Amino acid sequence: MCPAFSALLRATALSGAILLTGGLEGPSQAQCGPDALGVSRTLMLTAESPPPYDLLEPGEVILTFDDGPATFRTKRVMKALDQECTRATFFLLGNEAEVRPGLAKDIREAGHTVGSHSLDHARLTNLSLAAAVENAEAGKTAVEAAIGQPTPLFRFPYVATNPELSQAIRAAGMIEVAVTADGADWTYNTPEEAVEMILAKLEQHGRRGMVLLHDPQENSAARTRLLLQALKEQGYRVVALEQPEG
Ligand SMILES: [Zn+2]
Repeated sequence: MCPAFSALLRATALSGAILLTGGLEGPSQAQCGPDALGVSRTLMLTAESPPPYDLLEPGEVILTFDDGPATFRTKRVMKALDQECTRATFFLLGNEAEVRPGLAKDIREAGHTVGSHSLDHARLTNLSLAAAVENAEAGKTAVEAAIGQPTPLFRFPYVATNPELSQAIRAAGMIEVAVTADGADWTYNTPEEAVEMILAKLEQHGRRGMVLLHDPQENSAARTRLLLQALKEQGYRVVALEQPEG
């Protein structure tokens, strides 16, 4: 497919995606131009959905960011996403959302999707089942209070879970969102290393996957910009998760 036609298709898909979000404010394709990465399609997950990874076609990625919201750094990541007219899902910590509710709300109002990531980043597999669920529910409640909307999407801290815990989280009304292409940016690697790692993992999984970076780090915006550029160059398409209704 010629690049101009492919860009036109992306532009068309993006306008559709914005309509689907119900008019939430977000970047317009006009601001970005036809070469922007954009959003190729959206997915609405429910409690009955298969894991989102199973819903991806080759060439498709879902962008996710964990551990925010962080003063300044989250906004810089959002700006990098805006510059490519693309959308991500941010898994916020309850404690962080509680102290920065305005920032949590800004993420949502910019057209991104918000999930929760526990109250305080405890390793839930180290807690009793009841305490783990209580921690996750407290995180979800705090994030929901900050953004004023339900946030059933959930990511385990350290992506650490087991079948019993995943089942208990599901029973508590949360939808687990896994990771298949981790940039290991928590090791404070360089943006180049993180992006190389993500691309390698996408290749290993048939050129598709759930990408993870963290927005509160010093290099988060640089990593995001580099990642978006690399995804675009390699012909990947971004799939955005919709904000579930509860
Ligand atoms: Zn985390």
